[in-house]
Formats: sequence, structure tokens, C-alpha cells
Amino acid sequence: MPPFPAEILLRQPCKMKRRLCETTSVTGEKRDQIQEWKLRIEADTAAPFRQPTHTVIMIFRTAVRILLPFVSSWAAKQEAIILRDGVTLNDSQIADARSIGIAHPERVRVLVVPRIPLPLHPLLQSAAEKFGLLSPHTSGMSLRYGIFIRTDCRGDRRLVVHELAHTAQYERLGGFRPFLMAYLHECITPPGYPFGPLEQEAVRIAQQTCG
Ligand SMILES: [Zn+2]
Repeated sequence: MPPFPAEILLRQPCKMKRRLCETTSVTGEKRDQIQEWKLRIEADTAAPFRQPTHTVIMIFRTAVRILLPFVSSWAAKQEAIILRDGVTLNDSQIADARSIGIAHPERVRVLVVPRIPLPLHPLLQSAAEKFGLLSPHTSGMSLRYGIFIRTDCRGDRRLVVHELAHTAQYERLGGFRPFLMAYLHECITPPGYPFGPLEQEAVRIAQQTCG
């Protein structure tokens, strides 16, 4: 059985870092190992679901830090796709964007998709799903000026305003890396998603704007 990442992380952080970096293009045996880690992490966090152990939080915190460049790159690629294929905000959406303080509402594009894409990195995907951040039920996602909206939620003003609030946060914090670092950190720190300050701010803005 492959070593559990907690032990590697605690005793051999450099080795853990190297292994995580190697996993960006893994196949075969290493993919199996990641799957084994994923299962162990899932078992560890299964009960109680939203109270992962300190060790698991440490694993994800380290994983987020190491994988942040890959997450940012993935987010930027998704934004580019949305900017290419999406549609501009309509007049009322522009008004909403201005009222919540977006500096460049004209840059925003919305792309309606049957399912919100998930990051491909297996460890990251495991973390995102385990902490409730992303799932097949995710209805929207803001990648700075690119916003995904799931097809069956098209026309949901509250959802669009919520995602626009995240766009405003990207602007305020200074782009992909600073926003994603802060956002992912709050998601993996108890009480976790959706109780962190950035997510709660988006919920509050949607509430205030849409009533
Ligand atoms: Zn949100």
C-alpha cells in the first residue's frame, strides 16, 4: 500500500511537494497512488462530513499552495473560453454589476453550459468536492470576467449577481492568484465553504441586490 500523504507531509514535506508537482501529468502507477490517497482522505473526512481532521486540512492547505499556479492557469483558460464564446451582460445586468462596484462590467461575459467544468487535477478535484466547493450540482462559477451559468439556471438574477460579486472580488484582490489563494484558503479552513468571508459577502450582495 502506498504511504498515506499525511505521514509524508508531516515528516518529508519536500518529498510531498515533489510528488504533488509530479502529479500534474501523471499516468499509471502514480495515478493509482493518487486514487489511493483520495480514498484515504475521503474515508478520513467521511464522518463527520464537514469536520475534516487537522491533518487532512494540512494536506489540502499544502496542496492548495503547491497547486495554486495550476489552479490559476486552469481558471485563466476557462476565462478565455468564456470571453471567446460567452455573451455580454444585458443592460440590467450591467446596472447590477455597477451597483456592486465592478470596475469593468463591459469586460464580463456569461457562458451558459450544461455542466460547470471541474478542474482535472485529481487531488484538487477531490478537495473541491470534499469541501463542498464544486460538484455536479454547482450552478455557477466566476472566473474573473468569465462567468459560467448552468443551463437550467439561465435567467436566475440572484445567481448572476452572486457570481458578479466574485468578479468584483477578483478585481479588488488583484487577479486570479490572490483571489483563488484567499478563496480556497477560506474553503478549506473550518467552518469552510460556504461560510468564509468572501463567499458570505457574495451571498449578502445577492441578497441585498435581489431582495
Ligand atoms: Zn460563491
